[in-house]
Amino acid sequence: MKLFDTHSHMSLIHDDHIEQLLLAQEAKRENVLGILSITNNIQDFFVVHENLKTASNIYYAIGVSPSEVSHPGRDWEQKVMQGALLDRVVAIGETGLDYEKKYGDKKSQIDLFLRQLELAGRLNLPVVVHNRGAGEDVLSILRDKLPSRGAILHCYSEDVAFAHKALDLNVYISFAGNVTYRNARSIQETAIEMPLDRMLIESESPFLIPSEHRGKRNKPSYLPSTLYHIAELRNEDPEKVADQVWENSLSVFGLTGKI
Ligand SMILES: [Zn+2]
Repeated sequence: MKLFDTHSHMSLIHDDHIEQLLLAQEAKRENVLGILSITNNIQDFFVVHENLKTASNIYYAIGVSPSEVSHPGRDWEQKVMQGALLDRVVAIGETGLDYEKKYGDKKSQIDLFLRQLELAGRLNLPVVVHNRGAGEDVLSILRDKLPSRGAILHCYSEDVAFAHKALDLNVYISFAGNVTYRNARSIQETAIEMPLDRMLIESESPFLIPSEHRGKRNKPSYLPSTLYHIAELRNEDPEKVADQVWENSLSVFGLTGKI
């Protein structure tokens, strides 16, 4: 079985670079052969990219999360252009909209999101989209401005009806550990009903620990638990689900035939 963790905040699990390398190795032993390292700001991207450069199963996203809307950093767009040229950078993110945390105001969040969609188009990369309480705005913006390489709706937290609308676009839906939670009925329904060829999985570590590991700090090596849970929900063979989700991951990040 091969698994790809499409969203891990490795630098939030540990800030020590040796510990980060150990996380990558430990994940490999659990069949997590690819991990997308994601950061909320540009500065953290450059640090973690340096820290993990010897870890062959790590890929990177570069971008500015809505949490940073009031302080995206000087010349951040130029830095994204530079960072995107580094080894194994395969996506723009994390970006998106968060209306629950009320970072800045809606207008400035939307502006930051739009600028990154445009950068993704110029750099020919997909975008990793965070959406909390902003589904309708995310959808209408993506309908208009989706870059050609498409998007990942990460940590899916909407319902089936929303998924059907989103899947009219070139997007993948990524499930995190919360799909294993007992009260996550509408997320689970989406995981059951959606087409497998548009599905991804992620740890969103250090957050959203799968229920089987409750009480611990989440990390990429716990990802198999989410895969098995989804296969059980769908009543499908875990190997079959894993194979398709792995192919999807390579496809969205432009890695098909490369790993
Ligand atoms: Zn995240």
